[in-house]
Amino acid sequence: MTGRPPAYVGRFAPSPTGPLHFGSLVAAVGSYLDAKKHNGQWLLRIEDLDPPRESTTAPAEIMSQLRAYGLFWDGDVLFQSSRLNAYEENLGRLRNQGLVFPCICSRKSIVGVYPGACRSRSYESTEVPFAERLLTAGRKVEYEDLIFGTRYCDVEQDVGDFIVKRKDKLFAYQLAVIVDDAYQEVTHVIRGSDLMDSTPRQILLAEYLSLPVPAFGHIPVVTDVSGHKLSKQTHAAPVDRQNPLPVLRQVLNVLGQHFGSNVNTVEQLLDFAIQQWDINRIPRDSFRYV
Ligand code: GLU
Repeated sequence: MTGRPPAYVGRFAPSPTGPLHFGSLVAAVGSYLDAKKHNGQWLLRIEDLDPPRESTTAPAEIMSQLRAYGLFWDGDVLFQSSRLNAYEENLGRLRNQGLVFPCICSRKSIVGVYPGACRSRSYESTEVPFAERLLTAGRKVEYEDLIFGTRYCDVEQDVGDFIVKRKDKLFAYQLAVIVDDAYQEVTHVIRGSDLMDSTPRQILLAEYLSLPVPAFGHIPVVTDVSGHKLSKQTHAAPVDRQNPLPVLRQVLNVLGQHFGSNVNTVEQLLDFAIQQWDINRIPRDSFRYV
């Protein structure tokens, strides 16, 4: 991108593991309204990094659901599958600085936080397959969440050296997401609070790679009656494309916003919601969707 970057660039970045459910729609609407309230751009990125978990029809379904809800993104859709060279290049920069190391530990052998068993391993003496982990040695991260306030994480103690490239050679979400947020000049990340634990990792990676750190705001997740987060993995129902207006009102309700009882179309409701949008009204508690 050239010229002066826009003051606000937001994005919605679903993984195409299935169509959007109510919880993912809440994140989409929250990031959209915050971007539009700031006269910003709202980008769509399809995070298709993990083919075995994905559905080939999901990208088209997600886009058609977003359109049905009046959530039109700016510019072209970015597919992470087209960005593998950029991830490799950034990983190379980490390798050159000695900030990653090869790890042969099996997932089963690690209980809790990764204890650093392979930290002193060299690439030369390690046979493939290995994963690559980021050295978190002593690093702490503090940031101001737009919804949850000051957040602090001792990355080494709380998270441990985390994987940036998996043993099966797939790039980890943590690396791809921060490389792409920088590439797309994203200034604000509004997303579900299930990703809040990932944020310090992404900030640390941005610091190591000298990439800009966006502002972050985390929206409480929507759970089912038994308190479990709605997710594609547990087959939460896809949001209905046929009758979006009442669903959109429910989304605004979850987000603590006014939901415009006097409007009759999705477009009008979104216009109303943009005008009324106040990020401070988003509740911090998770919402039970019945
Ligand atoms: N792709 C991630 C997901 O669908 C979200 C990434 C993000 O918003 O940072 O859970």
